[in-house]
Amino acid sequence: MTYHRTSYAVWEITLKCNLACSHCGSRAGQARAQELSTEEALDLVRQMAEVGIKEVTLIGGEAFLRSDWLQIAAAINQAGMRCTMTTGGYGISLATAHKMKQAGIATVSVSIDGLEATHDRLRGRKGSWKQAFQTMSHFREVEIPFGCNTQINRLSAPEFPGIYEQIRDVGARAWQIQLTVPMGNAADNADILLQPYELLDLYPMLARVARRHIGKGFNSSQAIILATMALTSGCFAGGDVRMNGHSGRAARLDCQP
Ligand code: SF4
Repeated sequence: MTYHRTSYAVWEITLKCNLACSHCGSRAGQARAQELSTEEALDLVRQMAEVGIKEVTLIGGEAFLRSDWLQIAAAINQAGMRCTMTTGGYGISLATAHKMKQAGIATVSVSIDGLEATHDRLRGRKGSWKQAFQTMSHFREVEIPFGCNTQINRLSAPEFPGIYEQIRDVGARAWQIQLTVPMGNAADNADILLQPYELLDLYPMLARVARRHIGKGFNSSQAIILATMALTSGCFAGGDVRMNGHSGRAARLDCQP
């Protein structure tokens, strides 16, 4: 059997962000001076295609705060790679969602870090939970498949059963969950971090939520949510994953156990 290696790139196209998350590993906020110009970014797209990258996920900061981000997304598609995106979902209008569809963005992951009050507190902006759900309704309307990603920490963990029901009802097709780790802003907010002894309660709780929903008539996409939720924590990247930082410097990401 021939083994086909899949290469995947996560590209932090700017560190400009409209949220201020307590757990932000990149300490995003303002754009950095060494971020790539449009010409340099399009050249990086060409280079990624040349080395055999198959999929590029645009992240930030907040990727859509770069004025040329849809040009970059379209160029990724034109170069034969799949373009996906991760977003905080704060401020994506229906018109922008239509433009994303036209640019060929294949799927989007929206960050949801708790029920409304917890999410707004962790994301540092009141109204961000409502905006994220409105953004997902726009994606549903323009038919861009979407999922969610959620940080697991002391504030969000007790809300996982409720978060699951909210994202299922809005139409999420997948759910990536990951422990908040002491990087960037999270290192300054150690009170939100789960300690190892607390994981002894966390994993059985996740398994209980998964068991409660499996076999109750959910469709296969919802089963994917459950499978992902029950089995993963941290980065569940498979295959060959590259991270392009905001300055275009590449690094390989290794899978965490
Ligand atoms: S975690 Fe994401 S959305 Fe939050 S401040 Fe950092 S880059 Fe922005």
